[in-house]
Amino acid sequence: MKITIIGTGYVGLVTGACLAEIGNDVFCLDVDPRKIKILNDGGVPIHEPGLKEIIARNREAGRLQFSTDVAASVAHGDIQFIAVGTPPDEDGSADLQYVLAAAKNIGAHMQGFKVIVDKSTVPVGTAAHVADVVNAALAERKLDHGFSVVSNPEFLKEGAAVDDFMRPDRIVLGCDEDEAGERAQALMRRLYAPFNRNHERTRYMDVRSAEFTKYAANAMLATRISFMNEMANLADRVGADIEAVRRGIGSDPRIGYSFLYAGTGYGGSCFPKDVQALIRTAADNGHDLKILNAVEAVNDAQKSVLVDKITKFYGENLRGKVFAVWGLAFKPNTDDMRAAPSRPLIAALLKRGATIRAYDPVSQEEARRVFAMDLKGEEDALGRLQFVDTQYEASADAHALIVVTEWKEFKSPDFGKLYRQLTSSAIFDGRNLYEPEALAAAGFHYEAIGRPFVT
Ligand code: NAD
Repeated sequence: MKITIIGTGYVGLVTGACLAEIGNDVFCLDVDPRKIKILNDGGVPIHEPGLKEIIARNREAGRLQFSTDVAASVAHGDIQFIAVGTPPDEDGSADLQYVLAAAKNIGAHMQGFKVIVDKSTVPVGTAAHVADVVNAALAERKLDHGFSVVSNPEFLKEGAAVDDFMRPDRIVLGCDEDEAGERAQALMRRLYAPFNRNHERTRYMDVRSAEFTKYAANAMLATRISFMNEMANLADRVGADIEAVRRGIGSDPRIGYSFLYAGTGYGGSCFPKDVQALIRTAADNGHDLKILNAVEAVNDAQKSVLVDKITKFYGENLRGKVFAVWGLAFKPNTDDMRAAPSRPLIAALLKRGATIRAYDPVSQEEARRVFAMDLKGEEDALGRLQFVDTQYEASADAHALIVVTEWKEFKSPDFGKLYRQLTSSAIFDGRNLYEPEALAAAGFHYEAIGRPFVT
C-alpha cells in the first residue's frame, strides 16, 4: 500500500520504517531538512535499537524514501499518517500547531480520497478539528475530494520501539461511522492485517474514545509510578524496603509486576505532557482530575529526592565536591533527553557549586545540547559540567556516584574499582540497582529510593 508519514521523529520514523519492512511503499516527510539529509545520507537522527538496519534494508529495496517535498508527500500516500510533535502549550494543553499545519498541507495538495490518520497523541476532538482544517483548505481550492480522519494513537515505547511496533499488544483504531469512515476503516484493516494474523489485536471504536484511550493509558502508567514513589518515600521513613514491597504486591495478578519501580520521577516526551494535557482537558470541561493532579505533584517532588539525600550527607554547599553521574537519557536505550530527571538533578547540584562528570552510553551529544540550553547565561555552572567517554572516567576521583538511568552496563559494575575511585565511597542510586546489604558490607555509603540505609 502507498503510505505517507508526516514527521520523522521517534514515532514517525519507526512507523514508516516498520510499515516499509512488511512491504508497503512509504514516503516520509519532515519539515526539518537536517533530519531528511541525515536519512538520505544513510544515517539515523535518533537512537532506537534495530531501526538503522530496517531503514537501510528498505531504502535499498526502494520501499522507503525521505523528503521535505510536501506536494509529493500528499500525492504519494492513500493513507497519510500525521506523526508530528504535540508539545505542551503554556497552559499545559497539547499544542496542535504542527498537527493542524500538516492537515492544512494535506487539504492544500490532495487530489483524491485520502485517509488521514492522527498518530500523534492529540486531545479528544482533534480529529474533528483536523477535518475542519482540511475542509477549509479544500474549500479555498473549490474542491470537494472525500477524506476521513481516523484516530490511531501510538503505544510504542522508546528504547523498544521497533519491537513494540512489530509486535503490538493492541492497535487502537477510531473511525467514523459514515461512508468515508467505513472506507477508511477498510483500508486501515488491510494495512494492519499482517499484525493481526495470530489473533485480532485491533480494538475498533469511535474516534473520540480512541483519542481518549491514549491519554488514559499514559495517565494510568504515570499514576503507578507516582504511587510507587509515594510508597517509597514512606518506606524510607518507616524502615521498610520498597523492593521487597514491590515484589510482594506485584505477585498479585490484579496488580502485576510491570511499571512498579520507584525512582527519580517519570520523564520523557510523553508522560509529563500527556498528564498535563489531560488535566487541562478536564479543566476545560469543568472537571477536576484529583488523582492526576496528585500524580503530577508527587512527580515534581520526586525529582528532588536524590538532591535532598545528597545535601543531607554533604551539606547545602557542594562547592569542591565532584559527582559522577551515570545515565542522562530519561530511560535506557534511547538518546531522548526530553524532561529527563537528570536535567533538574544536575542543575540543582551545579547550583549548589558541585562539579559534575557525566556519562551516558548514547545521549552525550543530545545532553550537551540540552544542558547548554538549560544553563544558558550560567557560564560558571556550565563550566562545571563535563561529559566523559566511559562510566569509570566519570567516577575517577569523584566524591560520589549518582545513578540516574538504569542502562544495562550500570547494573553490575566493578565495585572494587568504584570503592578505590570514590573519595567518599558514596553511591546515590536513583534506580535501586544494587543491594544495600552487599554495598554496606563492601564499605560503601549507599542510599537508594525507599530502601533501608544500612551502615
Ligand atoms: P518528535 O519531536 O521526535 O518528531 C516530530 C517530527 O515532526 C519532527 O521531526 C518535526 O520536524 C516534524 N514536523 C513538525 N511539523 C511538521 C510538519 N508540518 N510536516 C512534517 N513534519 C513535521 O516527536 P515524537 O516523539 O515522534 O512524537 C510524535 C507524536 O507521537 C507526539 O504526539 C507524541 O506525544 C506521540 N507519541 C510519542 C511516543 C514516543 O515515545 N516518543 C510514543 C507514543 C506517542
